[in-house]
Amino acid sequence: MQFLQSDQLLDLLLRLRIISLQQRQFIEQQRSRQQQKLLRQAAKEGIADKNYPDLVDIIASLNLTVKSKKTGKEYAINEELMMRAVAKGKKIPFRRLDPLELDMKVATTTVSKSFASLQSVLPLKINNGMLEMAIYHPDCQPILADIEKTNQIKITPIIATRSDIRRIINEFFGFQKSIRAAENQFTSDNSSDALDIGNLERYINISGSQELTSSDQHIKKAVNHIFHYALDQRASDIHIEPKKDLSLVRFRIDGLLHTIYRLPKAVHSALVSRIKFLSRLDIAEKRRPQDGRIKIGARSGKDVEIRLSTIPVSFGEKVVMRMLDSDIIFRNIDGIGFSERDLKVYKGFMQSPHGIVLVTGPTGSGKSTTLYSTLKEIATPEKNVITVEDPVEMIHEEFNQIAVQPAIEVTFATILRNILRQDPDIIMIGEIRDKETAAHAVQAAMTGHLVFSTLHTNDAASSITRLRDLGLEPFLIASTLLGCMAQRLVKTICPNCKERFRVQSNELARLGFPVKAGKELILFRGKGCRECRGTGYKGRCGIFEVMPVSPDLKQIISTQMQSVDMKKIAIREGMTTLRQDAWQKVLRGITTWEEVLRVTAE
Ligand SMILES: [Zn+2]
Repeated sequence: MQFLQSDQLLDLLLRLRIISLQQRQFIEQQRSRQQQKLLRQAAKEGIADKNYPDLVDIIASLNLTVKSKKTGKEYAINEELMMRAVAKGKKIPFRRLDPLELDMKVATTTVSKSFASLQSVLPLKINNGMLEMAIYHPDCQPILADIEKTNQIKITPIIATRSDIRRIINEFFGFQKSIRAAENQFTSDNSSDALDIGNLERYINISGSQELTSSDQHIKKAVNHIFHYALDQRASDIHIEPKKDLSLVRFRIDGLLHTIYRLPKAVHSALVSRIKFLSRLDIAEKRRPQDGRIKIGARSGKDVEIRLSTIPVSFGEKVVMRMLDSDIIFRNIDGIGFSERDLKVYKGFMQSPHGIVLVTGPTGSGKSTTLYSTLKEIATPEKNVITVEDPVEMIHEEFNQIAVQPAIEVTFATILRNILRQDPDIIMIGEIRDKETAAHAVQAAMTGHLVFSTLHTNDAASSITRLRDLGLEPFLIASTLLGCMAQRLVKTICPNCKERFRVQSNELARLGFPVKAGKELILFRGKGCRECRGTGYKGRCGIFEVMPVSPDLKQIISTQMQSVDMKKIAIREGMTTLRQDAWQKVLRGITTWEEVLRVTAE
């Protein structure tokens, strides 16, 4: 494996114009001195790799740059740039490794960890009967031939950076070790029915919750790893699902579920028990749904709350955990994506001494973020903020948060019946579902309180008809409602790979966007990069439809006017619809028109 140590590498880099002739001379001059320097550093950091440093490491440490002929931009001559060149020269495909795209079982069982680290190779997955294998040394064919022989499978080599290979080896083999050890521990108790789940449950019952968590380092480690890995990957939800023969761990990242691990069925119950223990749920209760919360310390140093729910499904208990990042939930109200006009109108609602403000949208449309951010902004030491929620999503010490508990008949209605005696200034009601809750909201507003709540309707105007349908007197709605707002979340374009493109307006006009036909527009999109896992999107932002109840609307509410007609009046008075607001965000390069079509129906 000499190529990455040899002058052939310099020849190749020169031929592909990655380095200039002068840079080559500079590298040759500096080579031995830089090598000694890197070796000394490695000794200090305890890196024991006999192949370190090679010429790639040496060149990367010299901080050289190359100017692109095409774009005129300067690029660092780093490991990735060089390995892409090596791949090109050797006619082997190059790939950045995404842990979500590889099969953990294949990765960790084809070769041993020490072999993988020593040779800088990593089996990725089996594709069309071929084993895809990440390699660092382009001349490691003899090693690949050996692996082909022992595993009886043909290999497709793919060049990757050594840093990628190392990172994944450490991440995956460590996790695999914890899972294996846990599995062995559970199965060695009774070898005759080694993988029997009943057996495992007995083990947990015998050892008891206390002992399970304190003694079982492997399960603890595995659960910790899952949490931290989910945070690293910006997952919003973790699913742990029992299947017939295995336990599936999936993460939701930017709205899509990815399968992360397929674990042995034997550890499923122990993982679920560990998680239930952490959230103080009843470990013995496996037949009824339960919900709870866990707080974990992220590597970044801040606490992250996790809300979880367990439910029995065909093959055991399924756990779904939602990661609640307080930075995302408690935002600055100016930063959640309001247009200038919408922000002004909405802030007007917030400053009103009393009245009702309704936020509508389906589950997952960002209503909680809006409400929590609103309350955070208006909660001062002089104000008593009370929330009634089902369940309490995120705890904030400045609010008095009350959880609805239907099991003991503590419902929205019963809490609201008593809440006014708690002398609140601002009340947040998680959701208005029935006439009684709606009536309490109206009563609170009429007696001088500011009330925020949510409804499940499609647009702002429909919330008025919904209240009417629940049985509220129209004149009460007209006299208490300050405004309604509909919202959705759109995925935002990844800033790292954002690019402009030209589009004919005819096409967009046909889809219903407000553009003149026969024009050329410049819009934005994400090309797809490592940061966004090739999706072109990273993060999300709100789109809004803010409808203040104007004097004209107040008059109309008492008539039996339909929501479409109220919407027309609101638009005449300056309201932008969800789609119009979203379209503005397309023009400003925040999101794409495909996203707008996905989340808004006209
Ligand atoms: Zn990107």
